[in-house]
Amino acid sequence: MRIAILSRNENLYSTRRLKEAGEARGHVVDVIDTLHCYMDITRSRPTVRYHGEELPYYDAVIPRIGASITFYGTAVVRQFEMMGTFCVNESVAISRSRDKLRSLQLLSRRDVGLPRTGFASKPDNVKDLIKNVGGAPLVIKLLEGTQGIGVVLADTNKAAESIIEAFMGLKANILVQEYIKEANGADIRCFVVGGRVVAAMKRQAAAGEFRSNLHRGGQAEVVRLSKEERATAVKAAKVLGLNVCGVDILQANSGPVVMEVNSSPGLEGIEVATEKDIAGLVFKFIEENAKPNNTRTKGK
Ligand code: ADP
Ligand code: GLU
Repeated sequence: MRIAILSRNENLYSTRRLKEAGEARGHVVDVIDTLHCYMDITRSRPTVRYHGEELPYYDAVIPRIGASITFYGTAVVRQFEMMGTFCVNESVAISRSRDKLRSLQLLSRRDVGLPRTGFASKPDNVKDLIKNVGGAPLVIKLLEGTQGIGVVLADTNKAAESIIEAFMGLKANILVQEYIKEANGADIRCFVVGGRVVAAMKRQAAAGEFRSNLHRGGQAEVVRLSKEERATAVKAAKVLGLNVCGVDILQANSGPVVMEVNSSPGLEGIEVATEKDIAGLVFKFIEENAKPNNTRTKGK
Protein backbone atom coordinates (compact mmCIF):
# COMPACT_ATOMS: atom_id res chain seq x y z
CA MET A 1 0.00 0.00 0.00
CA ARG A 2 0.95 3.64 -0.34
CA ILE A 3 0.70 5.31 3.05
CA ALA A 4 1.36 8.89 4.21
CA ILE A 5 2.39 9.92 7.70
CA LEU A 6 1.26 13.49 8.40
CA SER A 7 3.97 14.86 10.62
CA ARG A 8 5.77 18.16 11.04
CA ASN A 9 9.11 16.47 11.66
CA GLU A 10 10.43 13.29 10.06
CA ASN A 11 13.16 13.00 12.68
CA LEU A 12 10.83 12.48 15.64
CA TYR A 13 11.10 8.99 17.15
CA SER A 14 7.43 8.19 16.48
CA THR A 15 7.59 9.34 12.86
CA ARG A 16 10.84 7.49 12.17
CA ARG A 17 9.57 4.29 13.77
CA LEU A 18 6.30 4.40 11.82
CA LYS A 19 8.12 4.90 8.51
CA GLU A 20 10.56 2.11 9.31
CA ALA A 21 7.83 -0.32 10.44
CA GLY A 22 5.67 0.39 7.37
CA GLU A 23 8.56 -0.11 4.98
CA ALA A 24 9.56 -3.32 6.77
CA ARG A 25 6.05 -4.60 6.00
CA GLY A 26 6.47 -3.80 2.30
CA HIS A 27 4.58 -0.50 2.07
CA VAL A 28 5.59 2.75 0.39
CA VAL A 29 5.59 5.28 3.22
CA ASP A 30 5.91 9.06 2.67
CA VAL A 31 6.29 11.56 5.49
CA ILE A 32 4.26 14.65 4.59
CA ASP A 33 4.63 17.91 6.50
CA THR A 34 1.06 18.80 7.52
CA LEU A 35 1.56 22.55 7.36
CA HIS A 36 2.98 22.33 3.82
CA CYS A 37 -0.17 20.69 2.47
CA TYR A 38 -2.51 23.08 0.68
CA MET A 39 -5.68 22.54 -1.22
CA ASP A 40 -8.35 24.02 -3.42
CA ILE A 41 -11.39 23.07 -1.38
CA THR A 42 -13.89 24.16 -4.01
CA ARG A 43 -12.93 21.61 -6.66
CA SER A 44 -15.47 18.84 -7.09
CA ARG A 45 -12.64 16.30 -7.08
CA PRO A 46 -10.80 16.98 -3.82
CA THR A 47 -6.99 16.84 -3.91
CA VAL A 48 -4.08 17.84 -1.72
CA ARG A 49 -1.11 19.74 -3.16
CA TYR A 50 2.41 19.62 -1.76
CA HIS A 51 5.53 21.48 -2.93
CA GLY A 52 3.85 22.49 -6.21
CA GLU A 53 2.46 19.07 -7.12
CA GLU A 54 -0.68 17.09 -6.55
CA LEU A 55 -0.11 14.30 -4.03
CA PRO A 56 -0.73 10.77 -5.31
CA TYR A 57 -3.67 8.79 -3.95
CA TYR A 58 -2.83 7.28 -0.58
CA ASP A 59 -4.53 4.13 0.67
CA ALA A 60 -4.09 5.37 4.21
CA VAL A 61 -2.96 8.39 6.20
CA ILE A 62 -1.52 8.26 9.69
CA PRO A 63 -2.22 11.67 11.24
CA ARG A 64 0.36 12.77 13.80
CA ILE A 65 -1.14 16.18 14.48
CA GLY A 66 0.54 18.17 17.25
CA ALA A 67 -1.72 20.06 19.66
CA SER A 68 -0.48 23.43 18.38
CA ILE A 69 -1.68 22.75 14.81
CA THR A 70 -4.98 20.99 15.54
CA PHE A 71 -7.05 23.48 13.54
CA TYR A 72 -5.09 23.28 10.29
CA GLY A 73 -4.11 19.64 10.80
CA THR A 74 -7.69 18.42 11.13
CA ALA A 75 -8.61 20.37 7.96
CA VAL A 76 -5.89 18.48 6.06
CA VAL A 77 -7.09 15.14 7.47
CA ARG A 78 -10.66 16.05 6.50
CA GLN A 79 -9.52 16.71 2.94
CA PHE A 80 -7.96 13.23 2.75
CA GLU A 81 -11.20 11.73 4.13
CA MET A 82 -13.14 13.47 1.38
CA MET A 83 -10.79 11.93 -1.19
CA GLY A 84 -11.73 8.50 0.18
CA THR A 85 -8.39 7.87 1.88
CA PHE A 86 -8.56 5.79 5.04
CA CYS A 87 -7.37 7.98 7.93
CA VAL A 88 -6.21 6.04 10.97
CA ASN A 89 -7.88 8.65 13.19
CA GLU A 90 -10.67 10.73 11.69
CA SER A 91 -10.62 14.51 11.81
CA VAL A 92 -13.75 14.72 13.97
CA ALA A 93 -12.33 12.26 16.48
CA ILE A 94 -9.04 14.20 16.67
CA SER A 95 -10.93 17.46 17.30
CA ARG A 96 -13.02 15.82 20.02
CA SER A 97 -9.98 14.46 21.83
CA ARG A 98 -8.16 17.82 21.68
CA ASP A 99 -10.88 19.48 23.70
CA LYS A 100 -10.60 18.07 27.23
CA LEU A 101 -14.00 19.35 28.25
CA ARG A 102 -15.77 17.98 25.18
CA SER A 103 -14.03 14.60 25.64
CA LEU A 104 -15.00 14.37 29.31
CA GLN A 105 -18.60 15.32 28.50
CA LEU A 106 -18.83 12.60 25.85
CA LEU A 107 -17.15 10.02 28.12
CA SER A 108 -19.36 10.78 31.11
CA ARG A 109 -22.49 10.49 29.00
CA ARG A 110 -21.43 6.93 28.18
CA ASP A 111 -20.61 6.05 31.82
CA VAL A 112 -16.83 5.86 31.50
CA GLY A 113 -15.28 6.37 34.98
CA LEU A 114 -13.94 9.92 35.43
CA PRO A 115 -12.58 12.03 38.27
CA ARG A 116 -15.31 14.40 39.48
CA THR A 117 -14.82 17.42 37.25
CA GLY A 118 -16.30 20.91 37.09
CA PHE A 119 -16.07 23.80 34.69
CA ALA A 120 -17.02 27.45 34.96
CA SER A 121 -16.19 30.65 33.20
CA LYS A 122 -17.24 33.39 35.64
CA PRO A 123 -15.58 34.05 39.01
CA ASP A 124 -18.89 34.66 40.85
CA ASN A 125 -19.52 30.97 41.51
CA VAL A 126 -16.05 29.70 42.40
CA LYS A 127 -16.93 28.62 45.98
CA ASP A 128 -19.88 26.58 44.77
CA LEU A 129 -17.80 25.10 41.94
CA ILE A 130 -15.20 23.94 44.49
CA LYS A 131 -17.87 22.51 46.79
CA ASN A 132 -19.52 20.80 43.88
CA VAL A 133 -16.45 18.71 43.02
CA GLY A 134 -15.94 17.75 46.68
CA GLY A 135 -13.57 20.48 47.93
CA ALA A 136 -9.75 20.52 48.27
CA PRO A 137 -7.37 18.96 47.47
CA LEU A 138 -8.19 19.76 43.86
CA VAL A 139 -6.42 19.66 40.54
CA ILE A 140 -6.92 22.70 38.32
CA LYS A 141 -6.10 22.30 34.64
CA LEU A 142 -5.74 24.67 31.76
CA LEU A 143 -7.88 23.28 28.94
CA GLU A 144 -5.16 24.04 26.41
CA GLY A 145 -2.30 22.50 28.42
CA THR A 146 -0.15 19.55 27.36
CA GLN A 147 2.70 17.56 28.90
CA GLY A 148 1.58 18.46 32.40
CA ILE A 149 2.10 22.20 31.94
CA GLY A 150 -0.88 24.09 33.31
CA VAL A 151 -1.88 21.33 35.77
CA VAL A 152 -1.85 22.64 39.34
CA LEU A 153 -2.59 20.95 42.67
CA ALA A 154 -4.41 23.10 45.25
CA ASP A 155 -4.21 21.71 48.80
CA THR A 156 -6.83 23.92 50.41
CA ASN A 157 -10.11 25.48 49.32
CA LYS A 158 -8.53 28.92 49.77
CA ALA A 159 -5.62 28.08 47.48
CA ALA A 160 -8.03 26.56 44.95
CA GLU A 161 -10.13 29.72 44.99
CA SER A 162 -7.13 31.99 44.37
CA ILE A 163 -5.77 29.82 41.58
CA ILE A 164 -9.15 29.55 39.86
CA GLU A 165 -9.69 33.28 40.13
CA ALA A 166 -6.21 34.00 38.78
CA PHE A 167 -6.77 31.74 35.75
CA MET A 168 -10.20 33.26 35.16
CA GLY A 169 -8.66 36.74 35.36
CA LEU A 170 -6.39 35.70 32.50
CA LYS A 171 -9.45 34.51 30.56
CA ALA A 172 -8.04 30.98 30.51
CA ASN A 173 -10.43 28.02 30.22
CA ILE A 174 -9.96 25.62 33.11
CA LEU A 175 -11.22 22.35 34.54
CA VAL A 176 -11.47 21.79 38.28
CA GLN A 177 -11.01 18.17 39.21
CA GLU A 178 -11.09 15.94 42.25
CA TYR A 179 -7.49 15.02 43.21
CA ILE A 180 -7.05 11.24 43.06
CA LYS A 181 -4.63 10.99 45.97
CA GLU A 182 -4.67 7.20 46.09
CA ALA A 183 -3.06 7.09 42.61
CA ASN A 184 0.15 8.06 44.50
CA GLY A 185 1.53 10.14 41.65
CA ALA A 186 1.19 7.32 39.12
CA ASP A 187 -0.95 6.95 36.05
CA ILE A 188 -1.38 4.24 33.44
CA ARG A 189 -0.98 4.87 29.73
CA CYS A 190 -2.98 2.34 27.72
CA PHE A 191 -2.06 2.23 24.05
CA VAL A 192 -5.13 1.28 22.02
CA VAL A 193 -5.00 0.09 18.41
CA GLY A 194 -8.18 -0.95 16.64
CA GLY A 195 -10.27 -1.46 19.78
CA ARG A 196 -7.61 -3.45 21.69
CA VAL A 197 -5.11 -2.40 24.34
CA VAL A 198 -1.85 -3.52 22.71
CA ALA A 199 0.49 -2.20 25.42
CA ALA A 200 0.36 -0.46 28.75
CA MET A 201 2.82 1.24 31.05
CA LYS A 202 2.67 2.74 34.50
CA ARG A 203 4.27 6.15 34.86
CA GLN A 204 5.43 7.19 38.31
CA ALA A 205 6.00 10.85 39.06
CA ALA A 206 9.40 12.01 40.28
CA ALA A 207 9.72 12.46 44.06
CA GLY A 208 7.81 15.49 45.30
CA GLU A 209 5.81 15.76 42.06
CA PHE A 210 2.22 14.61 41.46
CA ARG A 211 2.34 14.80 37.66
CA SER A 212 3.61 11.60 36.13
CA ASN A 213 4.33 12.92 32.61
CA LEU A 214 7.63 11.59 31.27
CA HIS A 215 8.39 15.19 30.24
CA ARG A 216 8.14 16.09 33.94
CA GLY A 217 10.66 13.42 34.97
CA GLY A 218 8.21 10.51 35.40
CA GLN A 219 9.53 6.92 35.15
CA ALA A 220 7.82 4.24 33.07
CA GLU A 221 7.48 0.52 33.72
CA VAL A 222 5.40 -2.29 32.24
CA VAL A 223 2.11 -2.96 34.00
CA ARG A 224 -0.48 -5.72 33.83
CA LEU A 225 -3.93 -4.25 33.48
CA SER A 226 -6.99 -5.42 35.36
CA LYS A 227 -9.97 -6.44 33.24
CA GLU A 228 -11.77 -3.29 34.31
CA GLU A 229 -8.85 -1.04 33.34
CA ARG A 230 -8.61 -2.69 29.95
CA ALA A 231 -12.36 -2.34 29.35
CA THR A 232 -12.27 1.32 30.41
CA ALA A 233 -9.48 2.15 27.94
CA VAL A 234 -11.21 0.34 25.08
CA LYS A 235 -14.51 2.06 25.82
CA ALA A 236 -12.93 5.52 26.04
CA ALA A 237 -11.28 5.03 22.63
CA LYS A 238 -14.57 3.85 21.16
CA VAL A 239 -16.62 6.71 22.59
CA LEU A 240 -14.24 9.28 21.10
CA GLY A 241 -14.03 7.33 17.83
CA LEU A 242 -10.23 6.93 17.90
CA ASN A 243 -8.63 3.85 16.32
CA VAL A 244 -5.15 4.63 17.62
CA CYS A 245 -4.82 6.51 20.90
CA GLY A 246 -3.28 6.66 24.33
CA VAL A 247 -5.79 6.49 27.17
CA ASP A 248 -4.45 7.82 30.48
CA ILE A 249 -6.04 6.23 33.52
CA LEU A 250 -5.71 6.84 37.26
CA GLN A 251 -6.31 4.02 39.75
CA ALA A 252 -8.93 5.53 42.05
CA ASN A 253 -10.59 3.81 45.01
CA SER A 254 -13.78 3.79 42.96
CA GLY A 255 -12.03 1.98 40.07
CA PRO A 256 -10.20 3.18 36.97
CA VAL A 257 -10.90 6.80 35.96
CA VAL A 258 -9.92 8.31 32.62
CA MET A 259 -7.89 11.49 32.73
CA GLU A 260 -7.42 12.07 29.07
CA VAL A 261 -7.24 10.46 25.66
CA ASN A 262 -4.41 11.37 23.32
CA SER A 263 -4.96 11.01 19.58
CA SER A 264 -1.25 11.24 18.65
CA PRO A 265 0.32 9.16 21.43
CA GLY A 266 4.12 9.04 21.44
CA LEU A 267 5.71 5.68 20.61
CA GLU A 268 9.08 6.05 22.31
CA GLY A 269 8.06 5.72 25.97
CA ILE A 270 5.75 2.79 25.38
CA GLU A 271 7.99 0.89 22.91
CA VAL A 272 11.04 1.26 25.17
CA ALA A 273 9.11 0.29 28.32
CA THR A 274 7.30 -2.71 26.80
CA GLU A 275 9.77 -3.73 24.03
CA LYS A 276 6.80 -4.16 21.70
CA ASP A 277 6.63 -3.22 18.02
CA ILE A 278 3.68 -0.85 18.41
CA ALA A 279 4.43 0.88 15.08
CA GLY A 280 4.12 -2.49 13.35
CA LEU A 281 0.73 -3.05 15.00
CA VAL A 282 -0.51 0.29 13.63
CA PHE A 283 0.35 -0.95 10.12
CA LYS A 284 -1.30 -4.32 10.79
CA PHE A 285 -4.45 -2.38 11.68
CA ILE A 286 -4.14 -0.37 8.44
CA GLU A 287 -3.66 -3.52 6.37
CA GLU A 288 -6.89 -4.92 7.81
CA ASN A 289 -8.98 -1.75 7.51
CA ALA A 290 -7.72 0.58 4.78
CA LYS A 291 -10.46 0.33 2.20
CA PRO A 292 -11.49 3.39 0.19
CA ASN A 293 -14.20 5.45 1.92
CA ASN A 294 -14.00 3.41 5.10
CA THR A 295 -14.52 6.62 7.08
CA ARG A 296 -17.43 7.21 9.40
CA THR A 297 -17.74 10.97 9.51
CA LYS A 298 -15.88 12.62 6.61
CA GLY A 299 -15.64 15.71 8.82
CA LYS A 300 -19.36 15.92 9.68
P1 ADP B 1 -1.51 16.88 30.38
O1 ADP B 1 -2.52 16.68 29.29
O2 ADP B 1 -0.91 18.23 30.37
O3 ADP B 1 -0.53 15.76 30.46
P2 ADP B 1 -2.97 15.66 32.51
O4 ADP B 1 -4.39 15.96 32.73
O5 ADP B 1 -2.63 14.36 31.87
O6 ADP B 1 -2.32 16.87 31.73
O7 ADP B 1 -2.22 15.75 33.90
C1 ADP B 1 -0.80 15.59 34.05
C2 ADP B 1 -0.48 14.63 35.19
O8 ADP B 1 -0.99 15.11 36.44
C3 ADP B 1 -1.12 13.27 35.00
O9 ADP B 1 -0.32 12.42 34.21
C4 ADP B 1 -1.29 12.77 36.42
O10 ADP B 1 -0.12 12.14 36.87
C5 ADP B 1 -1.52 14.04 37.22
N1 ADP B 1 -2.95 14.27 37.42
C6 ADP B 1 -3.79 14.91 36.54
N2 ADP B 1 -5.05 14.94 37.01
C7 ADP B 1 -5.05 14.33 38.21
C8 ADP B 1 -6.07 14.06 39.20
N3 ADP B 1 -7.33 14.44 39.01
N4 ADP B 1 -5.68 13.41 40.31
C9 ADP B 1 -4.39 13.01 40.48
N5 ADP B 1 -3.40 13.25 39.61
C10 ADP B 1 -3.71 13.90 38.48
N1 GLU C 1 -20.13 15.67 14.22
C1 GLU C 1 -19.67 14.96 15.34
C2 GLU C 1 -20.40 13.61 15.42
O1 GLU C 1 -21.55 13.52 15.04
C3 GLU C 1 -19.87 15.76 16.61
C4 GLU C 1 -20.23 14.99 17.84
C5 GLU C 1 -19.30 15.34 18.96
O2 GLU C 1 -18.12 15.05 18.87
O3 GLU C 1 -19.79 15.87 19.97
O4 GLU C 1 -19.81 12.62 15.78
